[in-house]
Amino acid sequence: MPIIMKSKRLLNIAIFLYAITGQSCISIKQSAYNSNYQAPLEIGTCKINSTGAVHMNIFGLIKTDFIPASIKIESAGQTIYCDPLVINDTTKADYIFITHTHPDHFSKKDIKKLADSETVLVGPVNIPKNYKKGNFIQAEIGKTIRHKHIQFQAVESYNLESKIHKPGNKFVGYVIAVDSVNIYIAGDTDYIPEMNSLKNITVAILPIGEGNTAMNPASAAKAANAIKPAMIIPIHYELNQNREKQFLDSLQSDIRAVIFTEY
Ligand SMILES: [Zn+2]
Repeated sequence: MPIIMKSKRLLNIAIFLYAITGQSCISIKQSAYNSNYQAPLEIGTCKINSTGAVHMNIFGLIKTDFIPASIKIESAGQTIYCDPLVINDTTKADYIFITHTHPDHFSKKDIKKLADSETVLVGPVNIPKNYKKGNFIQAEIGKTIRHKHIQFQAVESYNLESKIHKPGNKFVGYVIAVDSVNIYIAGDTDYIPEMNSLKNITVAILPIGEGNTAMNPASAAKAANAIKPAMIIPIHYELNQNREKQFLDSLQSDIRAVIFTEY
């Protein structure tokens, strides 16, 4: 779930209904802000980019534009998507990583669009059964998996107080190593103690939204300062609310921040 909810109660109702019925009362489509995107971050032959802003409508009551956790990585001839959402791109996925099953992270429509018979889907234990056939790899926290040209490890991702991403849910983040670049994708998480053990992260991709269900700009900056990545990409935040500036104000100056949106 995004961190953009003005009403925690409404958010809880939306998640409850989704859990019971499998139907989302959330409609998500492309945002008009997509045209403002920068070029991808390039590190050697590795390219990392956000897949664009989305517009979300919950029950018709909350309407907002935000940057989701949807990331595209291209390297070593591989195309990797994490939590793909409202993708315009038609490049087939070699890998799709899913951090958790909330509708703004686990989009069946986008998986269908991007996957072919060769695509490897990586996800937590609670991914629906029909996605666990074929090339599925179940994420197990702490276990390093090498697969063709990439290596990855699932890591902890949870809320300390909010019950939306409880530790017992077994949601995950990932450290993906491709072409000597270590990319940490946090998922919807607070700044948790396990982050202090992350080492040699080239690029950390952290949520910086409101802070109800994941890190806010100040706690994300604290996490970044502890992880000490060479670069950081803030994601999963509402547009036009100054989140990027709040984040940059608390970030150590030796960490390069890459902001994909400009207004
Ligand atoms: Zn979530």
